[in-house]
Amino acid sequence: MDLKEMKELRIGEILENVSLKNYTTYHLETISRFMVFPRTIADLKTVLSYLKERKIPHKILGGGSNLIFKNPIYEGVLIHLKYFNKLEIIDNQVKVGAGYSFMRLSLKTANLGLSGLEFASGIPGTLGGAIFNNAGAYQSDIGYALLEATVLTPSLEIVTLKNKQMQFHYRTSFFKENPGYIILEGKFLLKPAKNTLLCEIIEDRKKRRLESQPLEWPSAGSVFRNPEQMPAWQVVEKLGYKGFSIGGATVSEKHANFIVNKKGATGNEIVTLIQRIQKDALEKLNIQLVLEQEIVE
Ligand SMILES: Cc1cc2nc3c(=O)[nH]c(=O)nc-3n(C[C@H](O)[C@H](O)[C@H](O)COP(=O)(O)OP(=O)(O)OC[C@H]3O[C@@H](n4cnc5c(N)ncnc54)[C@H](O)[C@@H]3O)c2cc1C
Repeated sequence: MDLKEMKELRIGEILENVSLKNYTTYHLETISRFMVFPRTIADLKTVLSYLKERKIPHKILGGGSNLIFKNPIYEGVLIHLKYFNKLEIIDNQVKVGAGYSFMRLSLKTANLGLSGLEFASGIPGTLGGAIFNNAGAYQSDIGYALLEATVLTPSLEIVTLKNKQMQFHYRTSFFKENPGYIILEGKFLLKPAKNTLLCEIIEDRKKRRLESQPLEWPSAGSVFRNPEQMPAWQVVEKLGYKGFSIGGATVSEKHANFIVNKKGATGNEIVTLIQRIQKDALEKLNIQLVLEQEIVE
């Protein structure tokens, strides 16, 4: 892989040896060999064809709010969809690009008196990442609200998938099970409601998050899915990990299902801490803690 050759593709902005500190909510110092910012679907197809032909590792990067880059260097190309950020609202129909901020979408629709995305007001990242993970909170998730999505298939065809085809379940979707699909745009049909009421709900939840989550530190939200037996934070607390650190990675004192980066944590330190908790949970409590975050090698 070579910068000169990639530049010849004319696929928009390309960065080389990029620190992921500002591209991951954990503020990881991992260096990505390349990052590209395609401006159009044609650019995106060109870069994907190039990378696939040469078998170069690549990954779509949303807001980096669910990712742990394990190594100091990511030897591949991250594709950032910041230019896929168009928002179109006609009556209660909302069409929005995959690179659009999920939080901003929630706030904007609530202000316009459109209900259905209030749950998302505290979820960082992009629409694409939210669809991929079936992001959710307060007994709701994007699977309840999304009508359809336009996606690029692994053979680079553009298709529209209906809600049912996206197989949304607790923090998972068709996309998680079928890597290689790229979400380009989502379409919602929201319900008209009083905007003051929606904004009150959002304000109340913001207060609850600020009280219960360590939002003052870099993190990637909940580390583990809640197992059947008890909430994940309770498992971690029972095992005595509250406040425990490996290097710069610390189990939050405020919420034990958060690992926070207190002092230049590396991805490897976070992963080591996670694996240690998982091992203990299995051995001491017979509980399998499933990771909600994604480790990128
Ligand atoms: C403080 C905090 C609170 C959080 N609270 C919640 C919460 O309440 N509920 C919740 O569900 N999550 C929560 N999260 C986790 C995270 O914000 C969500 O999982 C979010 O939806 C991830 O979106 P992203 O754009 O950052 O995705 P990224 O982390 O960048 O990527 C996640 C995955 O999605 C893939 N992806 C991204 N965009 C696309 C695309 N366009 N097409 C195909 N694949 C794509 C990536 O390749 C990657 O595999 C929280 C995180 C933080 C930091």
